[in-house]
Amino acid sequence: MPVPVNPILDDKIASLDVWHLKLPVNSVRDHGIGAVSDKIDILVVKLTTSSGAVGYGEASPWSVFTGTAEASFAAIDRYMRPHIIGCHLSNWRSILAVCRDCVAHCTEAKAAVETAFYDLVGHCSGLSVAMLLGGVVKTKIPLSCSLANPDFDADIELCKRLSQDNVNIVKLKAGFSTHAFDMMRLEVLAKEFPDFKVRVDFNQGLHPDEALMRVRDVASMQPDFIEQPVKAPLFSLMAEIRNAIDIPLLADESVFNMHDLLRAIDQKICDGISIKIMKTGSLSGSCQLSEVAAAAGLVCYGGDMFETGLAHMAGVHMIAAAPHITLGCEFYQAKYYLETDILENPFPIEDGHVLVPETPGLGVVVDENKVHHYSINHSTG
Ligand SMILES: [Mg+2]
Repeated sequence: MPVPVNPILDDKIASLDVWHLKLPVNSVRDHGIGAVSDKIDILVVKLTTSSGAVGYGEASPWSVFTGTAEASFAAIDRYMRPHIIGCHLSNWRSILAVCRDCVAHCTEAKAAVETAFYDLVGHCSGLSVAMLLGGVVKTKIPLSCSLANPDFDADIELCKRLSQDNVNIVKLKAGFSTHAFDMMRLEVLAKEFPDFKVRVDFNQGLHPDEALMRVRDVASMQPDFIEQPVKAPLFSLMAEIRNAIDIPLLADESVFNMHDLLRAIDQKICDGISIKIMKTGSLSGSCQLSEVAAAAGLVCYGGDMFETGLAHMAGVHMIAAAPHITLGCEFYQAKYYLETDILENPFPIEDGHVLVPETPGLGVVVDENKVHHYSINHSTG
């Protein structure tokens, strides 16, 4: 006997909107592979069904890391749209499979469209995205805030604010300036904020000739972990550095997807990985990555790009459904970096943790007035 289809899930996708936003930020941030200042580029995707149900997703590209906003916009508007409009929502997994294959790369665009489908199906089914991903295994996630301001005095002020908010995990972005600057900041953090758990992320910033020396020195400060000291393809050097230190070494830019992870495991380049939906292009794919990493004995961290609360929340649901992502998350930008978020409600940070919503879909309300206000390009149909 055929299984009856939920009439709401049998709705057709009536329209897809995609906006390119430029959102103001409150400071310069320097990383090993590039700097960000003034504004960040993100895309917002909105799917609407024939009965008026909606789902939202975000693409958070960074040109030096994952790709450009313009490429993501074209991927969604030109290449994915024809495979989405007019399709039954009940076929959403098949639609996503086609969207993954219809354009190469553009993982942020794929993450945005998948997020919008999860949000939409969640609203139609009454389930949260974490429930759709397999079930909630954690209701709150420890928050880490990154320190990347070349003006370290400004980061000290940020640390005071974090301390007052009971956020006690920080990730120091290193390798964009001198070794002395990195060591000085680590020493000041240890002295002024002894309760902080400090992690160090080089964002590929170290030259191979000096990487071993600089990482060894940083490891002597006993940070919680050290992340991606050298360029993504330098697997042999990552393995050499890992063997030279007694601090866990995490791979970020070296591991975007399952193929990278299997190679990383084979070549023993790291003790853990930073998982980002903007790298995998998928919430469910990110959960799968964490399962394979854990099976190989690696630890997992919930990373992000330059995002609003919308993309943060997709990551929150993904981590909430992934038991092996145990090192917390870095969804700090909605509260601590953007001049204004695009969600109507404040991003839910409480006592140093991000709270996992229990309401259907992503559990967020997107402020469309802000989306229109900050939009520099919009396509609908
Ligand atoms: Mg990183």
